[in-house]
Amino acid sequence: MENKLSKIIQKRTEDSQKTYSFKEDHNPRMPADYWFQTSTEGPVLFLVFFTQACRWAKCLGCNLPSKVTLSHIGFRDIMKQTNFIFMNLLSDRQKMNLRKIILSNNGSVLDEETLSTTALLYFIARMNMDCPNIKVLTIETRPEYVDPAELETIYRAIREGETPTDLEIAIGFEAFDEKIRNEHFKKGLTLEVFEKLAEMLSRYKYRLKTYFMLKPVPGLSEDDAIADIAAGIRYLDSISAKYNLDINMHLNPTYAAIGTPLADAFHNGTFVPPTLQSVKKAIAAAEGTRISIFAGLNDEDLAVPGRSFIRPGDEGLIDVIEQFNRTQDFTLLQ
Ligand code: SF4
Repeated sequence: MENKLSKIIQKRTEDSQKTYSFKEDHNPRMPADYWFQTSTEGPVLFLVFFTQACRWAKCLGCNLPSKVTLSHIGFRDIMKQTNFIFMNLLSDRQKMNLRKIILSNNGSVLDEETLSTTALLYFIARMNMDCPNIKVLTIETRPEYVDPAELETIYRAIREGETPTDLEIAIGFEAFDEKIRNEHFKKGLTLEVFEKLAEMLSRYKYRLKTYFMLKPVPGLSEDDAIADIAAGIRYLDSISAKYNLDINMHLNPTYAAIGTPLADAFHNGTFVPPTLQSVKKAIAAAEGTRISIFAGLNDEDLAVPGRSFIRPGDEGLIDVIEQFNRTQDFTLLQ
């Protein structure tokens, strides 16, 4: 069902010179995507709800909205997506073993215009009933949709499960340099807004995850890209100390995403995805800080074919980085 928001999203997508289309033929009762990964907490389910697309829509290299829809999806359909996860996807054993669930809708889970609060609370209820060992629930969102009342409700609900569950809010930060982040990448995130969020989360002792991209814009050298991540780590470390807040950096090497200006830059030679060696060097900048790092090596099939950051011969490095993700052992990087 198209609504006023559909038109806003469409206009912002066009104004940002993005040429991808949305998934209008997807069954709205099925999630957009899901996969399993391993973190220091143990087995993780990453779930992407199929909902109306991110209404910000502007970020330079992002085509995540192409996996969802312009149309509004009501709470009944989203609840069916949850039923699919708990009734058809997860085995009894997986339900017992899962330690962490990351909830996404390729936009903002806390934007109730795109993902209904009823549907979110239903997911949490099913999680509490079926997965007794969840240690962390992570919710992806832009910071402007985080409000204390909603946080409080969610937090109370997740603590009613058999294992006390921590809440982690995950936001896109993308680049530390203000000019790269807001002028080039068009993230629309100020440090003031970020620190307000950090302060709010610290009041409840919630966790904070920040997504950063290695080499997010054209024209950056590998060294400049690594330096930006290192500066981001130093900044996060200071915020973690100031607010006594547990902060994770989720570092994604940038790929040329189909239908974005970054793909055009790739084709005209001004953007080359970073190497995994640079990912390793960027991770190493966190040694001795309070910041934990998870390097994401999944391009979610959104890259221009053959134009991802993974190249022939990278298998050994992938192993090292995946081991690091599980252990946070910096000696692996030497
Ligand atoms: S990066 Fe996030 S906020 Fe930006 S357009 Fe993509 S989904 Fe929206």
